[in-house]
Amino acid sequence: QEKDYQMMLRTRSPGGFIPAELYLTLERLSEEYGNHTLRVTTRQGFQIHGILKKNLKTTISEIVRSMGSTLGACGDLNRNVMAPPAPFKNKPEYQYAWEYANKIADLLTPQTGAYYEIWLDGEKVISAEEAEEVKAARQRNGNGTIFHDCEEPIYGKHYMPRKFKCSVTVPGDNSIDVYTHDVSLVVITNKKGKLEGFNILAGGGLGRTHKKEDTFPRIADPIGYVAKEDVYDLMKAIVATQRDYGDRSDRRHARMKYLLEDWGVDKFKAKVEEYFGKSIAPFKDLPKWKYQDFLGWHEQGDGKLFLGISVENGRVKNEGKFQLKTALREIIEQFHLPMRLTANHNIILYDIEPTQKQSIAKILTKRGIELNPEAIDPLIRYSMACPAFPTCGLAITESERALPGVIARLRTLLDHLGMAEENFVVRMTGCPNGCARPYMAELGFVGIVPETYQIWLGGTPDQTRLAKPYTDKMPVEDLETFFEPIFVYFKQNRQPEESFGIFCDRVGFDALRQFSANYTLG
Ligand code: SF4
Repeated sequence: QEKDYQMMLRTRSPGGFIPAELYLTLERLSEEYGNHTLRVTTRQGFQIHGILKKNLKTTISEIVRSMGSTLGACGDLNRNVMAPPAPFKNKPEYQYAWEYANKIADLLTPQTGAYYEIWLDGEKVISAEEAEEVKAARQRNGNGTIFHDCEEPIYGKHYMPRKFKCSVTVPGDNSIDVYTHDVSLVVITNKKGKLEGFNILAGGGLGRTHKKEDTFPRIADPIGYVAKEDVYDLMKAIVATQRDYGDRSDRRHARMKYLLEDWGVDKFKAKVEEYFGKSIAPFKDLPKWKYQDFLGWHEQGDGKLFLGISVENGRVKNEGKFQLKTALREIIEQFHLPMRLTANHNIILYDIEPTQKQSIAKILTKRGIELNPEAIDPLIRYSMACPAFPTCGLAITESERALPGVIARLRTLLDHLGMAEENFVVRMTGCPNGCARPYMAELGFVGIVPETYQIWLGGTPDQTRLAKPYTDKMPVEDLETFFEPIFVYFKQNRQPEESFGIFCDRVGFDALRQFSANYTLG
């Protein structure tokens, strides 16, 4: 008799877009076949955990019939394309970011029919509009000589050496961790708000392996600028470069970031230009990046409203008085609202008529959901954890289940030290793969052995700089004794308004270590 294998399933949702009917299907499937929860991922998709192998086909086919997909959400190809989740209808650059997130996702979707053969018995359930998109994408893909003449016009016979991650954002909006992707496009518009082209960043990626110094997190480099009419050819040229020159002999060294690191930007750019057939223009100036989570009520610019809901650790569930799952089902059944998932595993409901605001607020409040972002402890609000145990096979130690306790202890410690107003970006993962991007946090916990974390310090509140490893092993039971001297040193020596991560980087780890070594616990 076959074992009861359990699976995790992840949606492909460019820009985090989840239409109402898809949400209701996912919610029902998580009850019928999953573990009764939904997980918002840090790449703006939903995961359902705990699906038995025998139920997988039904689950995937129902998702596809509800206009969803899981195609390319995992594997050695382009993953979910991220875009800012704020549904501003009066800001053209946001419209362009979503439009091109969808188009890049289509461009890099595998053309194989195997997905439909396996999960839908060969039946293709897509709308006429989507069929047109697929047709256009096929035409775009098949127009060059640089791609192998085979079934997959972009990926060739062997797909990519490793997973490949893209995002599209707008200048100044770093709600998607712009430096952490293989390729990020930044929308460039003219003074009238019309799309002109895109700045390109490439070579970001965070996953690493403990004790393998040749694996490391890396932030993307500015590569240049491309006019809008050339963006597909440029994307194909970058993909082809990684496809043909990425390291296929060692999966730990196979992400495109290592190609950028080994070659340098100039050589990488020259190779991409060979495939592209043109030179890449210089990178255009951009304003400073800012991290925004868009929680609470906002006007979306067309008379309607959107509501950002904080989802601690991305887990949509019912537990005690916290009944987020029921609340969302009630709201979406009643008002048929679309949602966008954020890169900080929160949810934004949008297209809300002002007349619906009160009823929606009432449902959420009745179900124990805090709607005022200012009432949420910022340590929780800006934190992220990956799922880790019990659903991730790669987990070394706890993450999602441990982070709430860790944050509560950090808050108590800060209060005790007279730093009640203090907050900073905390992220935790159960292994060095770094799914919750801990290497960009001001304080990152990376599981190294059970109940023990590597500590990374020095990232920024706007996620523009990598943190560095401060210590290799901090048993979680030592949390207070470990952090007390660091926080005291921060309190005594910070500059006005200086955040914790920026402080740690400025003073340097030697100073922190020296102070800690001579400190007597209070
Ligand atoms: Fe990702 Fe590792 Fe966390 Fe699993 S344990 S979700 S692989 S970071």
